[in-house]
Amino acid sequence: MYTPDPNRYKTMEYRRCGKSGIMLPALSLGLWHNFGHVDVLENSRSILRLAFDRGITHFDLANNYGPPPGSAEENFGRILKQDFQGYRDELIISTKAGYAMWEGPYGDWGSKKYLVSSLDQSLKRMGLEYVDIFYHHRPDLNTPLEETMGALDLIVRQGKALYVGISNYKPQEAAEAIKFLRSLGTPCLIHQPKYSMFERWVEGGLLDLLEQEGVGCIPFSPLAQGLLTDKYTQGIPVNSRAAKAHGHLKESEVTEDRMAKIRQLQQLAQERGQSLAQMALAWLLKDERVTSVLIGASRPEQLENSLGCLENLHFGSEELQQIESILQA
Ligand code: NDP
Repeated sequence: MYTPDPNRYKTMEYRRCGKSGIMLPALSLGLWHNFGHVDVLENSRSILRLAFDRGITHFDLANNYGPPPGSAEENFGRILKQDFQGYRDELIISTKAGYAMWEGPYGDWGSKKYLVSSLDQSLKRMGLEYVDIFYHHRPDLNTPLEETMGALDLIVRQGKALYVGISNYKPQEAAEAIKFLRSLGTPCLIHQPKYSMFERWVEGGLLDLLEQEGVGCIPFSPLAQGLLTDKYTQGIPVNSRAAKAHGHLKESEVTEDRMAKIRQLQQLAQERGQSLAQMALAWLLKDERVTSVLIGASRPEQLENSLGCLENLHFGSEELQQIESILQA
């Protein structure tokens, strides 16, 4: 029997998502890795319990998370039913569709047929009547934006999602989608882009656009899938994402050039009294345009460590310059 920590709302910071009524925790938990049928259910359960105990109210999924695809939603549904019954109204649960999910022409990209059927499947797998946020997972240049955004609007009107978002849309694509959704009367709540010290395309216009439009921003892979931690400095440990056959971090991405930067960043983090992971997360959260940072964790201790970033989100200008010179070198 799980009883959530009664103090769970005391230490987490909540930030308003764009100009909406929704507040999101500064850290949200994603279930891309570590929640599939290939993983150990009890470990997934421990991570979810710890997250909720520490005020993480937002859990992010997608139709294809696993492996196998769909299994993260199934496992999440199982844990939700066993542990979180009675807490649905304290949770923001999101899912997405946009990548390949089933065979044939209707299981991928951005048609109304795909998005509506995929969400129906997701709701079944999770045992939910609705999700809080439904995303189009990536832009589809071959489907008219009217159709994709129209499908998001329909899904909200059907009561299957409360809010909608977009992910991986470049600034121009995002601007059009946001405008279209507004014209339909279903405003875009949030954008989910990849953003970390190693991946900074959002600084070239997207963050400004989202601020102007009153849309929230939730960066994914903020630790560059684990690179921005202390784990790869001595090689690739067994059990790390880069070592797993189904992990999306490739060994070839653990380069000597990156390791050199990581060692310097590690030094700086130490001087700030933080782990590198904590500094990398704090570095994103220093920007008020970032509503929440979407982290992953393969065990509870990692989540505990990442949560520690909240103790120091402040950077002096000299520290910021040092970080820039390490990253630009
Ligand atoms: P991160 O960059 O936070 O990477 C998480 C991984 O880093 C963990 O699984 C673990 O890897 C390692 N790690 C995490 N914390 C620590 C720590 N404190 N110390 C040491 N190692 C640590 O994020 P993800 O790449 O997992 O992405 C997060 C979420 O973003 C996903 O779950 C998903 O919800 C979303 N996402 C969305 C996408 C989209 O297209 N919209 C695409 C990708 C992700 P290890 O297994 O090696 O221990």
